[in-house]
Amino acid sequence: MREIDLVVIGAGVAGLTAATHAARYGLTVVAVERMGVGGQIAAAERIENFLPHALSGAELGPLLHEQAEAAGAEFILDDVTGIAVDGDWRMVATATETIKARAAIVAAGSTPRPLGVPGEAALIGRGVSHCASCDGHFFAGQDVCVIGGGDSALDEALVLAEHAAHVTIIHRGTTLDAQRVLIDRVTAHGKIEIALSTAVEAILGDDRVAAVNLRNLATATTYDRPVKGVFVYVGLAANTAFLGPLVALDANGQIETDRMMRTSVPGIFAAGDIRAHSVAQLTAAAGDGATAAIAAWRYLKARA
Ligand SMILES: Cc1cc2nc3c(=O)[nH]c(=O)nc-3n(C[C@H](O)[C@H](O)[C@H](O)COP(=O)(O)OP(=O)(O)OC[C@H]3O[C@@H](n4cnc5c(N)ncnc54)[C@H](O)[C@@H]3O)c2cc1C
Repeated sequence: MREIDLVVIGAGVAGLTAATHAARYGLTVVAVERMGVGGQIAAAERIENFLPHALSGAELGPLLHEQAEAAGAEFILDDVTGIAVDGDWRMVATATETIKARAAIVAAGSTPRPLGVPGEAALIGRGVSHCASCDGHFFAGQDVCVIGGGDSALDEALVLAEHAAHVTIIHRGTTLDAQRVLIDRVTAHGKIEIALSTAVEAILGDDRVAAVNLRNLATATTYDRPVKGVFVYVGLAANTAFLGPLVALDANGQIETDRMMRTSVPGIFAAGDIRAHSVAQLTAAAGDGATAAIAAWRYLKARA
């Protein structure tokens, strides 16, 4: 069984930054990632608010990974299935081993929430998607819709408009809830239409998406809109299932931390989108990762 100073769970931007900082402070660090380094940003086509020059998510993950490995962090591809406290050890169970660490940083991020309407589950991968950058090109010349009114929804609508004939943004609210720069771009885009005060009642189609059934919340009328693709961005659910009841969560299911990213359990820290009150931006995830790493180093130093 490995015995190390720090295990980092998840290698998105928060986990990668935490691994770099902790290794640079001299801790022995293992980062466990179940999918591939980079996390959810890996699917984003264009990032404009992280570095002074724009880059894609597929470029950012490997850059941060290289930096963390150069600092001395080790990476393993595995799924963390549980974490327990055994005296001074934080026991992290993966699908293939148990890692004994003196401290742990949980940076497991979040997963897109489903809409929860009839037809959605059956048509996932058959026209229903959470990733415009991955699936947008399948809808070249077709009509699609994006559900949601936040940054991700607008970002992805702009990506889809490069392929699709027409993109409708469908949002329950009376205004969009996104950065002004994105609102200006979608509003000015000739291929993008915005339907506010509109809710999706059902996704229709036999073996592929054919239409969405919509409700105009102002008039309470319903109607069908033919589309071939439905891209859902209605929020995120924190990936905390593997923690069980170990650490305190808030009402949204995100991990409660103090300003130093300490959770309710000593020696367990949280960073990035998974923590309560995260603003779900890359710079914030990186900041959390650095803070959690330094807090973990101080925690271990106090016990040495
Ligand atoms: C489409 C889209 C576009 C975006 N564009 C921008 C943008 O332009 N600018 C910006 O600032 N932000 C953007 N964001 C938000 C940004 O991507 C997130 O805030 C940030 O990536 C969160 O990083 P994280 O490390 O906290 O979590 P994540 O990126 O979610 O990483 C968590 C990692 O943990 C892994 N993991 C989860 N559970 C386990 C487990 N049990 N065992 C092992 N590994 C596990 C996951 O596989 C994942 O790799 C965008 C988000 C989306 C969805």
